[in-house]
Amino acid sequence: MQRPEPAPGTLYLVGTPIGNLGDLSPRARELLRQVDVIACEDTRHSGQLLGSLGAKGRKLSFHQHNTRSRLPQLVELLKQPLSLALISDAGLPGISDPGEALVTAARAEGHEVICIPGPCAATTALVSSGLPSGRFCFEGFLPTKGRERQQRLAEIAKETRTTVIYEAPHRLLALLDAIASQCGEDRPLLVARELTKRYEQHIGPTVGAARRHFREHAPQGECTLVLGGAPSQAIIQPSEAELLRRLEEHIEAGASASVAARQLAEETGTSRRELYALLHRRTPH
Ligand code: SAM
Repeated sequence: MQRPEPAPGTLYLVGTPIGNLGDLSPRARELLRQVDVIACEDTRHSGQLLGSLGAKGRKLSFHQHNTRSRLPQLVELLKQPLSLALISDAGLPGISDPGEALVTAARAEGHEVICIPGPCAATTALVSSGLPSGRFCFEGFLPTKGRERQQRLAEIAKETRTTVIYEAPHRLLALLDAIASQCGEDRPLLVARELTKRYEQHIGPTVGAARRHFREHAPQGECTLVLGGAPSQAIIQPSEAELLRRLEEHIEAGASASVAARQLAEETGTSRRELYALLHRRTPH
């Protein structure tokens, strides 16, 4: 027999649809209808869904800008003890959206945490990609700029498992360019667009093909990237010509010779001295 829910003093992480409302499970629906309090990433965004369910619980916002002030209030509600559900704008709370901190705080105070599973863009994109899913990595959103981004991209390029990445549509082309520069145009890649929605598309099958597609069709809607892993036998070292091309790319983007050498050393594992020497040996033009 299933345990009665919602139970007082329990935090429920409730998965909601990533586009198709039919994906809300009967269990999630019932829980949201009955629970005392619902913490939403955006109360206006979730208002429509909750209204259609006849959810009577009190709605509170919980997002990255009010996490610190809201956390103690939510834990206090659990202590009363009220039942509390957490939902995000879409998908599984805690995957690239607030959730983790609340789960940690609730557990630290001895409250039960139960997940009512639902759709997640990462796993939905992964299993539909046809790329190996036996072992995979989830990267969420990459840092948007700077050294941290370069390092993360370099790590991803060497990763032998399939990697799933989230990206906003207006940054997709820049990310595809960066992946092409690190992994080459031929690396397998599928961009899952508008999953579960009317115009769902899976665009690939390589980095180059996806780049060409999105140069012609400006990216719109939600996108998740599924990138094939690096060949596991031998991590292919870029040729001297390729290294030089990438050094020049960094320099054209405004880096000094030494900064370009340092950046590429981080990206490829080739020594900075070797790269610097390569720059000095190049034929002037
Ligand atoms: N918690 C969500 C989940 O479980 O998938 C993810 C939230 S994260 C803030 C939003 C990102 O998820 C989007 O930028 C996009 O990369 C991905 N995403 C969400 N819905 C999607 C969809 N319908 N199709 C493709 N990607 C989606």
